Amino acid sequence: MSTRSGKIIVKNAEGKMPVLFVGHGSPMNAIEDNEFSRAWIRVARSLPRARAILCISAHWETDGTCVTAMEYPRTIHDFYGFPQTLYQKKYPASGAPDLAHFIQRVLDRVRVSADLDRGLDHGTWSVLCRMFPSADVPVVQLSLDRRKPPEFHYELAQGLKGLRAQGILIIGSGNMVHNLGRLSWDESAFDWALEFDERLRKLILSGDHSALVHYMDIGPAAGLAVPTNEHYLPLLYALALQDKDEAISFFAEKVTLGAISMRSVRIG
Ligand code: ZN
Repeated sequence: MSTRSGKIIVKNAEGKMPVLFVGHGSPMNAIEDNEFSRAWIRVARSLPRARAILCISAHWETDGTCVTAMEYPRTIHDFYGFPQTLYQKKYPASGAPDLAHFIQRVLDRVRVSADLDRGLDHGTWSVLCRMFPSADVPVVQLSLDRRKPPEFHYELAQGLKGLRAQGILIIGSGNMVHNLGRLSWDESAFDWALEFDERLRKLILSGDHSALVHYMDIGPAAGLAVPTNEHYLPLLYALALQDKDEAISFFAEKVTLGAISMRSVRIG
């Protein structure tokens, strides 16, 4: 498989690309030098060179599953009330139409629509502009079907496993604990946020994916930690790609703004 531009040649790759889940938090992480942006830069430097990136962002929910399939995705500034410099930020990575079409074929259990209009939202570019500032790796986004239960997303993501051996870096971008209605500006984390984050930490390390898929049964903190699940679901996409006994670790772990877990996962 190769793109028309010849930028991707998906063959003969050795080994598997690691998989990441990134707690993206505030869009300001795109331009602020802080512990999270530094952690993203560090982890990116430790990765093999990717031929393309597939990102599943909390910020693209659709009816049905879609994949960006244009040559040049635009930068979407899908947030309000931030400094002008953030709205001027562009992430000019090219798309990868051939990869998008390959994903359509690989995920043959569902109809994946090719989207030629949308661009990259901040769940994708605010992270990638720190990890890969030269924007020289093509990027494709896969949407979240808002109508489907968590099991669907976990099972769908398993169909993407083969991409790892082809040099594709798959990144889920969301936040494991994310409650914008309960933000606290003094940085002290709520007990329920810390408790849920800790429960997730243990379940991720023990590989209990079934419990993580059925996150509402984890405990009473779940309803506060995951009031809506669009920021949680990208975690399931990453976990579904973990092979049995494959190493898993955290490259960021902190609850910020009272109710946002920045915990970030590396698989492989
Ligand atoms: Zn977000």
